[in-house]
Amino acid sequence: MAAVGGAIVEKRKLALQGQVIEPLRHRRLFLAGDAAHIVPPLGGKGMNLAIHDAGALAGTLGAYYREGRDPSALERYSALRLPHIWRAQEFSHAMLQLLHLPLGEELEAARFARKLQDARLRQLATPSTFARDFARNYVGIT
Ligand SMILES: Cc1cc2nc3c(=O)[nH]c(=O)nc-3n(C[C@H](O)[C@H](O)[C@H](O)COP(=O)(O)OP(=O)(O)OC[C@H]3O[C@@H](n4cnc5c(N)ncnc54)[C@H](O)[C@@H]3O)c2cc1C
Repeated sequence: MAAVGGAIVEKRKLALQGQVIEPLRHRRLFLAGDAAHIVPPLGGKGMNLAIHDAGALAGTLGAYYREGRDPSALERYSALRLPHIWRAQEFSHAMLQLLHLPLGEELEAARFARKLQDARLRQLATPSTFARDFARNYVGIT
């Protein structure tokens, strides 16, 4: 069956950058998911982080009400989630550098960056500690 053509109604360039809003709480406002952090879309981390944020926030609010509305219970959410968020940022950023060349590089700098990418990709293609750690980070095993 032939594919049916259609009009392209919108074109956008996706900004491959990360952002984290810290802390994740301001008074009665709690941030979770993309509202709290944007990760470069290279490691499949955004939705997974959002789901874990929601679970942690539910646990935090539950603890707050169980523990007699102790405000210190509310501080735990940000402290609990930020290390995971920054770890995902670090991995996604490393993926970005592995798969994309920086914009606007001079020819020689771009050639150097490409050679570094090749060296890293070759390491991933052979059994090594680097390749094993990369695989564990990619699937989210901590
Ligand atoms: C093309 C693409 C591919 C992706 N692939 C992956 C992947 O493979 N793996 C992965 O882990 N992540 C992936 N992500 C990231 C992932 O989709 C997001 O990180 C995740 O959906 C964030 O969840 P969220 O609930 O924070 O936000 P969202 O999923 O954006 O949910 C926010 C919701 O709020 C609604 N909303 C907004 N404003 C209002 C309002 N004023 N009132 C009421 N409702 C409102 C929106 O309509 C939306 O339904 C991808 C993202 C994109 C764009």
